[in-house]
Amino acid sequence: MVKTVNSVSNYNILLSIHDVSPIYEDAIISLYDSLSDIGISSFTLLIPPFYQLKGSNVFEEKDIFVDYLRSLDLEISLHGYSHTTKSGGLDEFKKLTAKRSASRLKSGIAMIRRAFGIRPFGFIPPAWQATKTVLNQVKDVGLKYCVIGNNIHDFKSMKVFSTADYVISQGDGNTSFSDIMLELELGGPLQISIHPLDFKSSYIFVALRDALDRLDYTICGYRDYLRKI
Ligand SMILES: [Zn+2]
Repeated sequence: MVKTVNSVSNYNILLSIHDVSPIYEDAIISLYDSLSDIGISSFTLLIPPFYQLKGSNVFEEKDIFVDYLRSLDLEISLHGYSHTTKSGGLDEFKKLTAKRSASRLKSGIAMIRRAFGIRPFGFIPPAWQATKTVLNQVKDVGLKYCVIGNNIHDFKSMKVFSTADYVISQGDGNTSFSDIMLELELGGPLQISIHPLDFKSSYIFVALRDALDRLDYTICGYRDYLRKI
């Protein structure tokens, strides 16, 4: 079935935080506070449940950090499983066999459910890369959407929504949005993802505040955007 692609409305930024993991607890709390300070209250938390295949990065039920994240009432979505490939790459879901991607999706959902008591809402693969097989598997396991590159596949409406561009911060606190500045000025819809360590980057907060205050963008998470359209 060929699906038509609709554009996300202009002047919308879909915002997410990558790599939400216990290892970044302090950074994520700072990031949340900085986003709140500039008036951003909706964004998506992206969790790789077995980040870098380290046991210490697995969320535990009743952990204080889990309670804190739940209390924020933000969308929690699945972001791969370990976020790494055999060769150390980030694009975990790009070349997995169908059997392996299906089992990682199921295990990932189970791990989030065990710790948080809820199922993740949607799926955004590491580096935004996945195969069509993964797309179908995400739908089959009952998650509500899957993002690949510029396309957001919404399984409720069965529509595809696209953005003009997506930008993933480098995660080292030094990200520049120079390549999307023109798009921001034009009002094009964008996906922006920031990393926990970006709490150190005043540049990102200045750019987001500018998008909100001067350019009149609306900034929210994927769930909240899909629910309002
Ligand atoms: Zn990531």
